[in-house]
Amino acid sequence: MIERRKTRQLHVGSVAVGGDAPIAVQSMTNTHTDDAAATLEQIQRLADAGCDIIRCAVPDMAAAEGLKTICKESPVPVIADIHFDYKLALAAIEAGVDGLRLNPGNIGGEEKVRAVVEAAKERNIPIRIGVNAGSLPKDLLEKYGHPTAEALVEAAWRHVRILEAMDYRNIKISLKAHDVPLTLEAYRLMAAQCDYPLHVGITEAGTVNSGIIKSAVGIGTLLAEGIGDTIRVSLTGDPVNEVRVAYDILKSLGLREHGPTLISCPTCGRTRISLEKLALEVERRLADVEEPITVAVMGCVVNGPGEAREADVGIAGGIGEGLVFRKGEILRKVPEDQLVSELFAEIDKILLERKVS
Ligand code: SF4
Repeated sequence: MIERRKTRQLHVGSVAVGGDAPIAVQSMTNTHTDDAAATLEQIQRLADAGCDIIRCAVPDMAAAEGLKTICKESPVPVIADIHFDYKLALAAIEAGVDGLRLNPGNIGGEEKVRAVVEAAKERNIPIRIGVNAGSLPKDLLEKYGHPTAEALVEAAWRHVRILEAMDYRNIKISLKAHDVPLTLEAYRLMAAQCDYPLHVGITEAGTVNSGIIKSAVGIGTLLAEGIGDTIRVSLTGDPVNEVRVAYDILKSLGLREHGPTLISCPTCGRTRISLEKLALEVERRLADVEEPITVAVMGCVVNGPGEAREADVGIAGGIGEGLVFRKGEILRKVPEDQLVSELFAEIDKILLERKVS
């Protein structure tokens, strides 16, 4: 069991972050926020995939204007991503956002920060301080020589102290880099120094292919150490992939249940069936299943059912036929061409049994 770091809890709209709340999955829209219809369409797809919280970039007033409709109609809480301009932050709060991502040290002076903090306090809106290795202040780069974990943490504390001085502690923190060891070190350091919830991610991780590995190693390592209250996987492309990968990471660590889990064996010299084809077909059909269920696709009848004892249900291939099993117990032998349909008949049965009980 993973023991999670004890953090204070805050709320992004209806979603609790930190404390004993489930680790929230975030993503970010890549539509233009001033195009509310396109943004809402993407948010809906992300919400359908299980996204708990969505962030939208607010580069100008037109985007802040778009947020009015987006916040009203979004099925999940919306965070405004603000850089430098406090007026955009105020407009986003006015539009009804549930959270801000903003670094108070970058918005131009105490009075401007105070205006944002007062508005955020009034509506109980949390602020995420997001420090990035690529945009550290010059003096910290000079002090540390290059982006180090200490530099990232010091940069974050500068922003945090500004808010704390205004008696504002509705804060989350992120310390992102695309370098995985640097990210790990920075989050570990910060985790030891405060109890603010941490938003964990590897920034600019790459495309779906390369980014999945970096994200799984980086985010997964921290989560396994109990660090992280909300996560965002950053991938180039359709953000729906980010949500799928985030859940795969969380499920692999037993931190959240979400939809089905497929396990399939790597095959070996005992395999007498086209297992890859079978596993891909099962994976494709499982995309329509929403309930958490573990399904195994195994390459041989001798070891398959036993090796997949932890799965709720599974199939194991023989020569021209195979076995359907539940929790390692063999149910029946079926011809190869009926294996998948028999497996899904069994899945339906299990889901029905769960509903009845
Ligand atoms: Fe080999 Fe059978 Fe194990 Fe698959 S389940 S790896 S086919 S022994």
